[in-house]
Amino acid sequence: MALLITDKCINCDMCDPECPNDAISMGDDIYEIDPARCTECKGHYEKPTCQSVCPITNCIILDPDHVETEEALLEKFVVLQGMA
Ligand code: SF4
Ligand code: SF4
Repeated sequence: MALLITDKCINCDMCDPECPNDAISMGDDIYEIDPARCTECKGHYEKPTCQSVCPITNCIILDPDHVETEEALLEKFVVLQGMA
């Protein structure tokens, strides 16, 4: 499952540079996560690093519209590594 930045985001810019997949960027009003690039940090970290660095509680959540298995997330990680 990709993660989703909610409208609790205060545009503090903490998460963007920490994402190992360059999945986070500034959107029209708040930061956004590209679900095609978010692996929940699988392959890089034990848990989503954007959630770890975000100062706002429950600002970054699991995206119910992008449900993926662990295998799918790891496959995405491998594909993204090949593109790096
Ligand atoms: Fe990037 Fe990891 Fe957050 Fe996904 S969970 S947006 S890969 S930092
Ligand atoms: Fe928004 Fe949280 Fe990212 Fe800051 S760390 S820009 S509050 S999602």
